[in-house]
Amino acid sequence: MNRRLAEQTLIYPLHYLRQERIGAWLSEVRAVNGASRADIARYQRTRLCEVVRTARHSPSPGYAPLRGATDQLTEERIIGLLHDFPPQSKEAMRATVAAGGRPRGMASDYRSTSGSTGLPFQFYKDRYATGFMDAVLYAAYAWHGIAVGDPQARFWGMPLTPRGAAVARIKDLLKNRLRFSAFDLSEGARESYYRSLHRFRPAYFYGYPSLMATFCGHLLEQGRTLRSLPLKAVIGTGEYLYPQERKLVEEATGVPFVNEYGCTEVGIIGFECPRQNLHVMSANIYLEVLKDGRPVLDEAGDIHVTELHTRSTPFIRYSLGDRGILCSAPCPCGSSLPVMQVLSGRKDDYVLTPDGRKVYDAIFAYTLKRGVSRFRAVQTAVDRIEIAIVPGTDYSPELGSRYVRELQRHLGATVTIAISLVDTIEREPSGKLRYFRNAMAARTGRIPEEHGQP
Ligand SMILES: [Zn+2]
Repeated sequence: MNRRLAEQTLIYPLHYLRQERIGAWLSEVRAVNGASRADIARYQRTRLCEVVRTARHSPSPGYAPLRGATDQLTEERIIGLLHDFPPQSKEAMRATVAAGGRPRGMASDYRSTSGSTGLPFQFYKDRYATGFMDAVLYAAYAWHGIAVGDPQARFWGMPLTPRGAAVARIKDLLKNRLRFSAFDLSEGARESYYRSLHRFRPAYFYGYPSLMATFCGHLLEQGRTLRSLPLKAVIGTGEYLYPQERKLVEEATGVPFVNEYGCTEVGIIGFECPRQNLHVMSANIYLEVLKDGRPVLDEAGDIHVTELHTRSTPFIRYSLGDRGILCSAPCPCGSSLPVMQVLSGRKDDYVLTPDGRKVYDAIFAYTLKRGVSRFRAVQTAVDRIEIAIVPGTDYSPELGSRYVRELQRHLGATVTIAISLVDTIEREPSGKLRYFRNAMAARTGRIPEEHGQP
């Protein structure tokens, strides 16, 4: 579909039908994105006060710590309340949302996350929140020349029920998207998608990096590329991005790969500029990286977000379970939006070693490189890790033995590393691919502090 037709006859009218004042919100986001650091900080303080006021009116007991004060609510006092507010785990937020119920007196939507930690999460979002999330997205995509209504090739999961799939198809049609299901990577499916792409002629790709890299890798192996498509960029989201995936996709498409960091709960949190730095979307996100409960700069910690636009149940100091760094240095691109980094893996995904250490799961990504086109590692016992590898063309048993030795050097000589070669690695129900799982933690619901049988 033509871009302007999609924008003018479908996408904008849909926003207004949904009572989302998208034009005004987009102007507001653009103003924040172009503002100075001082002005961004001022804007965020004003918004944070608004969010605290909203939370104080919610019936949910989860916000009780914000209701304590009844004296003069100065900006200072409100920001103080916010900084004393305990960081919220997904479990705590689930209870808060359940107690808050469906927002009354305003339009809202039911949303659900796929629950990569094993627990799905359902909640309501009011239209001010959802519309503002879209405004943030439109403004960020424009950095790479992508306009509202531009045709999108989507590399994503596909609902597995016929009704779900039908709804997805209608949504895709209304949003000018063509979907490639993460669940069918067969040669036939790839071939048919390759042909559809050339008919549909998307302006950008959007989806899981692993899925796009797999698709592009197959094409390159056959000596084919996607360079004749009118692409502006490829946007990857939802998974940790490996440098080799970025390279593969850029080689096949001839356009820049742009990394997006976000979640269903609050939308886009970080987005890469043309200098490949991940900027915090400060118009809608107040980002804190907490280490031992205290905000830190230029140090690794746990990522927490507070959404700045909502009229119902705000996500405040919400823990995403990801680790990252909030950087103090400005980006050479000239934007004053702070730069952040997301570190690989979720904080629950540590490898436990027989001598009682927790090793960051990125160890696998760093070790298993050459000859490995994809892998999944599962720790089944403190001294056993099973790794399924989809071998690349230059894989050899010697290389496999070397990987075992290297991993044992980091994790302990008594750890059994069992490698098996497989054709495919199954995705999560959402279509995401996770490369490490601690099956010991999954059984107990937490990472055991001591080694030994959980
Ligand atoms: Zn930048």
